[in-house]
Amino acid sequence: DSDDISPVNLTADHLLDGLLTAEFSYRSCRSRYEFGSYHKNSSHKPSPYLLSKLRKQEALQKRCGPGTPAYKNALRRLQSSDGAATGVEDGDCRYLVNISFRGLGNRMIAVASAFLYAVLTERVLLVHWGKQDAADVFCEPFPGATWLLPRASGKRSPLRNLDDYGGESKESLGNMLQSGGAVVVSADGNVSWASPRRPPAYVYLHLSGGYGFHDKLFYCGAHQRLLRGVPWLLMRTDSYLVPGLFLTPPFVGELEAMFPEKDAAFHHLGRYLFHPSNAVWRAVTNYHRANLAGAAGRRVVGIQIRVFDKKQPPQLVLDQLLSCVRNEKLLPGIAASNDDAVLVTSLSSWYYERIAAEYGGGVAGGGVHQPSHEGKQRWGDASHDVKALSEMYLLSTCDVLVTSGFSTFGYVAQGLAGRRPWVMARPSPWEEWTEGQAAPEPPCRRALSVEPCFHSPSYYDCAAGRDVELDRVRPYIRRCVDVSWGIQLV
Ligand code: GDP
Repeated sequence: DSDDISPVNLTADHLLDGLLTAEFSYRSCRSRYEFGSYHKNSSHKPSPYLLSKLRKQEALQKRCGPGTPAYKNALRRLQSSDGAATGVEDGDCRYLVNISFRGLGNRMIAVASAFLYAVLTERVLLVHWGKQDAADVFCEPFPGATWLLPRASGKRSPLRNLDDYGGESKESLGNMLQSGGAVVVSADGNVSWASPRRPPAYVYLHLSGGYGFHDKLFYCGAHQRLLRGVPWLLMRTDSYLVPGLFLTPPFVGELEAMFPEKDAAFHHLGRYLFHPSNAVWRAVTNYHRANLAGAAGRRVVGIQIRVFDKKQPPQLVLDQLLSCVRNEKLLPGIAASNDDAVLVTSLSSWYYERIAAEYGGGVAGGGVHQPSHEGKQRWGDASHDVKALSEMYLLSTCDVLVTSGFSTFGYVAQGLAGRRPWVMARPSPWEEWTEGQAAPEPPCRRALSVEPCFHSPSYYDCAAGRDVELDRVRPYIRRCVDVSWGIQLV
């Protein structure tokens, strides 16, 4: 059993081909060492260059993270009024604070994006999880360092009310650019700090859906050079920004070297960063053992149903799902091998009951299972989050995935699994729905890759000074099957 894994008999499988190091004790975070045995067939191997960047980042987090003299120093400069005039010097530590919001799926794709940006810009990543506590659901990812932003002590600290930053904040890059005073744009498009020709002590990056033209200049090379000298960046996002980083000129070369397989970026970042806490992992493994594990050769089909519009008739969503699994022959295969099982995740139990009536009792010999039905999404509730995270991980162990388009919950599951799901198109909003309307046609499509979709890319090409068709810029960036204005790495 996996109970006897100790750092002596660890294999490449346990450490995900070098993504992870053996610097944590088994007891402190069992999922670090057990994830691999539930996800045996990942065909994606991390590149040696990615591994070297991860080890470098770990060293940075250790040298500069909370509790170090460097951190104390950087914090003092941030909180003192003269911080603004000092800028950064060689060897100084620079920081990226990720301000998380929304559901767990959104938070995870956002943290993965922030982490990659931190690696690219040699900054220490610190996570602000909001009212909830990230430590309830995740282990620390970096050896000998914490990724959790300590509570701010100083009354005037810019880190004090992080949840209050938004599109209106005057410290945002977008507002600084728009109001003019702080930044000078030269004739050749170069941007620099106006006065006193030194960067401010911190800049807020507003990168959540619905952000404006000036916020989106974040994806320009000139603006990235401008940000380089800022000691603290505060970033608020709920999105998967990685495809946007692949469109930001100064990062392209590094990213292409780190990810020779572009379509495995989240697969690697997610498996590197996220390790369910022992409480979550116990829920995952107990449920898996009792309901999903079967004879070798059993297939488990995972179905994730996420309904965004409360007024959506459930029957319509069910019809869409059933026609998807029939068209794509995802469930009939089950009749042939009678040990197969179905895992349903949804906030509601209604779909599970209908699917169990259709496919339970004999057709799927392994049964139809739903771990929980929470009714509605809840905020700041640890036991709710434990269920949500454990269901994402249970879905990620499935052999076949059917997901609901637009849902970041599904994106995380498919990304961790490294499996391309069949994605159900989001039905049209209830207001546009007409009596007798059929389910969307086709009811589902195969995702182009296992990558999450970036829902709010910038179409603006900074060098050209105009909008472009993003799916024509690089061969590995396409529009998503579920969100027509979104882009995805393939
Ligand atoms: P998204 O809204 O679908 O993009 O995904 P998020 O994870 O960001 O937010 C949805 C939240 O609703 C989750 O984090 C859960 O708290 C809850 N939720 C949605 N679907 C499910 C589900 O199938 N199972 C459980 N346990 N929770 C869910």
